[in-house]
Amino acid sequence: MIDPVSADIRKLLVSLNDFGAQWDEVGSEASAAFERVGRSGRYILGPEGETLERKLASLWGLSEAIVVGNGMDAIEIALRASGLSPGAKVLTTPLSAFATTLAILRCGGIPVFTDVDDSGLINLSECRRVLEADPSIRYFVPVHLYGHAMDLAAVESLRDDFDLTVIEDCAQAIGARSRGLMVGVVGRAAAVSFYPTKNLGALGDGGAVLTSNHGLAVRARAMRHYGQSATYVHEEFGLNSRMDEVHAAILADAFLPRLIRWTSRRKCIAARYQEAIQSSVLQIPAVPDGSDSVWHLFPVLVLQPERRDHFREYLAARGVASGIHYPRLIPEQKALVDHGRYEIKVSLSRATRFASCEVSLPIHPYLSEDDVDNVIESVNGWGG
Ligand SMILES: *Cc1c(COP(=O)(O)O)cnc(C)c1O
Repeated sequence: MIDPVSADIRKLLVSLNDFGAQWDEVGSEASAAFERVGRSGRYILGPEGETLERKLASLWGLSEAIVVGNGMDAIEIALRASGLSPGAKVLTTPLSAFATTLAILRCGGIPVFTDVDDSGLINLSECRRVLEADPSIRYFVPVHLYGHAMDLAAVESLRDDFDLTVIEDCAQAIGARSRGLMVGVVGRAAAVSFYPTKNLGALGDGGAVLTSNHGLAVRARAMRHYGQSATYVHEEFGLNSRMDEVHAAILADAFLPRLIRWTSRRKCIAARYQEAIQSSVLQIPAVPDGSDSVWHLFPVLVLQPERRDHFREYLAARGVASGIHYPRLIPEQKALVDHGRYEIKVSLSRATRFASCEVSLPIHPYLSEDDVDNVIESVNGWGG
């Protein structure tokens, strides 16, 4: 075990992200992209965004990508462009970034929450029961949380059996596969985020809608640009949610070419944690069946929730940062409670357990083997 003093001497600070190391790696290419866009005089909706869209669509194996301002807008635009109108019910998870539900609310949708499964992702068999009991639910926004791919065959059969419009929130799961199938391909559209901490993070905000539905793509393109279908022609209200050319160029030149290598590093680290973390006071949640996960986060559950803070302090004393995803369920957030227009269909007991027991360990491409060893020793050294 490493005591805090020697940890200090060895400067073992294992952080949740290492943007300094990332800049060392991407800085020269990012700067060249910045320079090119600066000189081009074309800063919004130009060739850089189009290039990024082509690359994203081909990575995904879908015919179209529409880059937008951020991941939350991507969900909103995908929902509206697929026809969601105010008052429509949208089945979703209580355990996610608030942005997932906020996007639903912004188009006037009524979020309907059901519980999660042992992996922390929405429980698809419970979804089936909820959908059987309430045939007025026609939209579904599942979240591929933590970088896991939920069982896409099961999502597909829910979609077909209940005639659902599915928008997959892939903000944490770019590149994850379920039995060989890429997340995002079963839905009418996929939404992805390039928030800096995400597996493919930009040097700022960014997001994209991915789809093979041409009509949806046309509408989404108009919607990100005030709802303009042609210059100064507005057939519906849109947003201003365009991605800057400079961010598109940096993503395409400096970040996207490294995604596969960064993802393999995350998978290696996750495999080491899964093999070496052994504790009678912690549990590693199950990975969904058939998921080839991209490990945006590495969650563990503290068996005694009242000891969670102690665990995190113990890690911090050994130079290991940690996070919580998420400490409060979405339907317990004041903004939503005050709004009042949402439904909870079943007891959210498993989601509540995640909210009170989950701790996210550092997992990012710049962790060294020593960092990984330090995390493992520190986690295994905690006695509860
Ligand atoms: C980050 C995130 C979002 C929102 O993305 P932004 O780019 O921050 O708007 C939505 N859903 C999930 C699951 C996320 O992790």
